[in-house]
Amino acid sequence: MATQHFTTDSHGWSELLPPRNNSTSGQGLHRVPWVVVGAGVTGLSCARRLAELHPHDEIILIDARLVGQGASGRNSGFAVGVSHFSGPYQAQQKDNYCRVNRINQAGVDLLDKQIKSLSIDCQWDDNGFHHGAADKAAITEQKNFLDYLNAMEIAHTPLDAETIENRLGTALYSAGVHVHAGALVQPAALVHGLADNLPDNVRLIEQCPVLNIEQGCPITLRLPEGEIKTDKLLLATNYEASKLGFLSRRLMGTTLSGSFTRILSSEEISSLGEYKKWGILSLHSGGATLRLTADGRICLRNTAEYTGGRLLVRQTLAQRQTIHRASFEKRFPQLAHVPFEYAWSGVEGISLNSTNFFAEQNNNIYLAGGYNGSGVSRGTAFGYALADYASGGQSILINDCLASAPARWIPPRPFLDIGAMLTVRSRFYGVGLDR
Ligand SMILES: Cc1cc2nc3c(=O)[nH]c(=O)nc-3n(C[C@H](O)[C@H](O)[C@H](O)COP(=O)(O)OP(=O)(O)OC[C@H]3O[C@@H](n4cnc5c(N)ncnc54)[C@H](O)[C@@H]3O)c2cc1C
Repeated sequence: MATQHFTTDSHGWSELLPPRNNSTSGQGLHRVPWVVVGAGVTGLSCARRLAELHPHDEIILIDARLVGQGASGRNSGFAVGVSHFSGPYQAQQKDNYCRVNRINQAGVDLLDKQIKSLSIDCQWDDNGFHHGAADKAAITEQKNFLDYLNAMEIAHTPLDAETIENRLGTALYSAGVHVHAGALVQPAALVHGLADNLPDNVRLIEQCPVLNIEQGCPITLRLPEGEIKTDKLLLATNYEASKLGFLSRRLMGTTLSGSFTRILSSEEISSLGEYKKWGILSLHSGGATLRLTADGRICLRNTAEYTGGRLLVRQTLAQRQTIHRASFEKRFPQLAHVPFEYAWSGVEGISLNSTNFFAEQNNNIYLAGGYNGSGVSRGTAFGYALADYASGGQSILINDCLASAPARWIPPRPFLDIGAMLTVRSRFYGVGLDR
C-alpha cells in the first residue's frame, strides 16, 4: 500500500490558515511503548491523554496526511452536545439517549478545557446552535425533536419562522430549535492548535502512512522508510481502518462537500439577522448545514455521496458547487451577488446502523472511530476514553463508549456500491426545501 491510497488536497478550512510544520520524520527504526495512528480529533485527544497518564513514556502520534487534512479539519465545526435521533421520541431508548449525550458533553467539555488552557484561536463559541426545518418532513421532525428535548429535560428554545429570520437573516425556515448545549469551531484551526500544543512526550509524525501492522510482542508498524515497534497500538484512523485490516465490512466512508463565501462586508452582514455568528443544522438528515463564521463567511454543506472513501476531484467539486449555490441563494437572496471563494470535500466514517466503534481489536491493539458525521465532540471523548481503557483504567465514559451497539455488516462489492448508493439516496428522501 502506497501513499497515494491516502488522497488529500489543499481545500477547505485549512486553506484559510497559515501552514504549520512542527512534525518530525518517520524515517528509521523507532521503539516506543505507545503509538497512536491518526491525528484527527480522536488521535489528538488520545495522545494527549496518554501523555498525561504516562508522563515518562514516549508516545508517537503518526498520520498519513498533514494535520487538518482528515475529516477533523474538514467538517462543518458543530461540536454536538445533544444528539438529534430522527423519528418520534422513544421512551424505551432513554438510557441510550442519555449515554450518547453524556459522551457528547464529555467531548465538548474536554475541548472547552483544552482550547481555553492552551489559548487555541479557533473561533470556539459555546452558545449552542440552531436546528431548522423548511419542508414538510423536517417540520414533522421538529415536533419529534421538541418531544425528545422536553422528555429529556434538555435546555432549548423552540423557534418560529419570524424569530429564525430575525436571528439569522433567512426566511426559508418555518420552524426550528436552539439547543443551548454544544459549540461551534473552526475545525482546522482546532486541530492545528491541538497539534501545535502537544505535550513534550508526544512525537508527531505527519505525511507518513502506516503501511501495515504485524501483530506480536512488540507490535511492528511498517512505514515507507522506516519501522516502529511498540507495546500498545491505538488506532484512530476513522473510515480508513480497513487499509490496516480492521473493520473492513463494518465501517465505510461517505464523501460530503460544501462551499464558503468570501468574507462578507459590514453592509452584507447587516442584511442578515441580529446574530453575528451562528450555525444551523437541518432537521432533515439530507438538509444543508450552514454557518455564519466569526470571521464573516457563510459556509454551507449539502451534498453526500459514495466514492469509495475518496475526496472529490476539482471538476466534480465544481459541479457540486452548483448545488451549494442554489441552496445559498434560496436562503439568502439578498446575498445572491456574493461569490463563493472556496469549495471543499471531506469523508466521514459511517456504519449502516449509525453506531460507533470502541474496542480492543486484538492483543494490545485498540480502536475508536466512525461517528457518522458527529465526531468533533464524540471523537474527542472516544479518544480520551481509549487512552484510559488501553491503560487499564475504568470510568463511566469508558463504559458508555463500550456500550456502543455492534455495527451491521456491510456487503462486499458490487452489492456494497448498490447498497451505499441506496443508503445515500435515502438520506435525501423528502428533503425538499431543506437541501
Ligand atoms: C464535510 C464533513 C462535515 C462534517 N461535519 C461535522 C460536524 O459539523 N460536526 C461533527 O461532530 N462531525 C462532523 N463531521 C464528522 C467529523 O469530522 C468526524 O467524525 C471526525 O472528524 C472524525 O475524527 P477522527 O479523528 O476519528 O478521524 P479523522 O479526522 O478522519 O482522522 C483520521 C486520521 O487517520 C489518518 N490515517 C488513516 N489511516 C492511516 C494510516 N494507515 N496511517 C497513518 N494515518 C492514517 C488519516 O490521514 C486521518 O488524518 C463531518 C465530516 C465531514 C467530512
